[in-house]
Amino acid sequence: MKTKTYLYNTLSKKVEEFVPNEDGKVKMYTCGPTVYHFAHIGNLRSYIMEDVLEKYLRFVGYEVKRVMNITDVGHLSSDGDTGEDKMLAGARREHKTVMDIAQYYTDAFFEDCRKLSVKRPDVVEPATNCIDEFIHMIEVLLEKGYAYVAGENVYFDTSKLDNYYVLSSQKEEELQVGVRDDVEEDTNKKNKTDFVLWFTKSKFDNQELKWESPWGVGYPGWHIECSSISIRHLGEYMDIHCGGVDNIFPHHTNEIAQSEAFLGHKWCNYWFHINHLNTTGGKMSKSKGEFLTVSLLEEKGYDPMVYRMFCLQSHYRKPLEFSYEALDNVATAYEKLFKKIKAVPDEGEVDGQQVEEYKIKFAEAVGNDINTSMGLTVLYDALKADTNGATKRAVIMAIDEVLSLQLARAWEETEAASADDELKAYVEKMIQERAAAKKDKNFARADEIRDELREKGVQIKDTREGVQWEVVR
Ligand code: AMP
Ligand code: ZN
Repeated sequence: MKTKTYLYNTLSKKVEEFVPNEDGKVKMYTCGPTVYHFAHIGNLRSYIMEDVLEKYLRFVGYEVKRVMNITDVGHLSSDGDTGEDKMLAGARREHKTVMDIAQYYTDAFFEDCRKLSVKRPDVVEPATNCIDEFIHMIEVLLEKGYAYVAGENVYFDTSKLDNYYVLSSQKEEELQVGVRDDVEEDTNKKNKTDFVLWFTKSKFDNQELKWESPWGVGYPGWHIECSSISIRHLGEYMDIHCGGVDNIFPHHTNEIAQSEAFLGHKWCNYWFHINHLNTTGGKMSKSKGEFLTVSLLEEKGYDPMVYRMFCLQSHYRKPLEFSYEALDNVATAYEKLFKKIKAVPDEGEVDGQQVEEYKIKFAEAVGNDINTSMGLTVLYDALKADTNGATKRAVIMAIDEVLSLQLARAWEETEAASADDELKAYVEKMIQERAAAKKDKNFARADEIRDELREKGVQIKDTREGVQWEVVR
């Protein structure tokens, strides 16, 4: 498809035309979840919008390779170098081992993704699988003079970079990360913005998972995993790196510092950041303890697709405020949409040219910085179009490759309902025939009918209330 793609790039702070390094191919990286708890629907907003980006790129013809890490070590409660490992806190909370909770919440995360039609990335890599590679990267950074050892930890020396704030445009004086009243300043750091690549001494005591390294037994800092895992699977040049806006600083800023110092050249061209889902009390966050999950929404009777549609209705760069009233409105809209789609008859020949025109309209709408609400508008326009049912159905199916609102379910339900009706009519006819055969004392025919039904997966039972039946297959 010859449509152009425009994306807001956090690096340039502008909407830019997207041009990958290699023609027709996109290398994409997503910061995965920290698996110490269930993902909340705020986290999942990010993954839904990244999923749309990936599916849109495939829709317009790119071959996409997408990699995601799973953070199962090293992410401290502050996002910086202070506080304890979130995984450790999770394990303690549940009286389990770190590896147990990592597995449990990784599975739970992908189950939520499945419910929300979020495709699993091509590569999913837990950080604890790649410790040797992290150590190698740190060794190279030390050799190149970008890192130093102090107090038996290894630090990245941010003063060695021309522009540490290339992504975040923060001012050094405004820097607050890691500065909490209850945490002592790390006096090993040469510069306030330096960050840990490998922990040993200061964070050693309680850590459950630790590894041998040239600097002593310890564990990696959080940021190194994404630099290392992405380079391992996508090579030295990456096209798009994604995450929520809270990842811009310090996580992505530090990823750029490490990766470019290690590689000796520019690493990733486009940075795609999703704004937060907020509640009236502010940003939804796992560490606050109270948060909304997909399962909770399901318990309250919401189809996960309603939450996906809620996300698609607003632009990913704007903060989104969650409320049940807003979700109820979307539930109504989703139901109406479903009804409209159900009513599209399966008739006529597909008009290929018209389908293509709608696909282009849709690609242009979404290609304008992932404008999903405009994409939805194209879907509604297609439903109103003056064309036959088969063409409309083809357009809906194509658009739903990206929106993934499980729209084909509308027809599957209709088909299932009509299959049910057919079966019911058939079974009732056979039961009547059997009753007639019995009346005529033709027991052989009556048994034959019972066996025929059994073969079709229907069990009949003679009861005082009459003949009853159930599907047993
Ligand atoms: P974490 O599991 O904390 O590492 O976060 C997983 C992803 O969710 C990251 O890309 C975060 O930037 C993103 N994220 C965290 N909180 C929110 C929120 N309230 N709304 C949207 N995205 C979020
Ligand atoms: Zn990351």
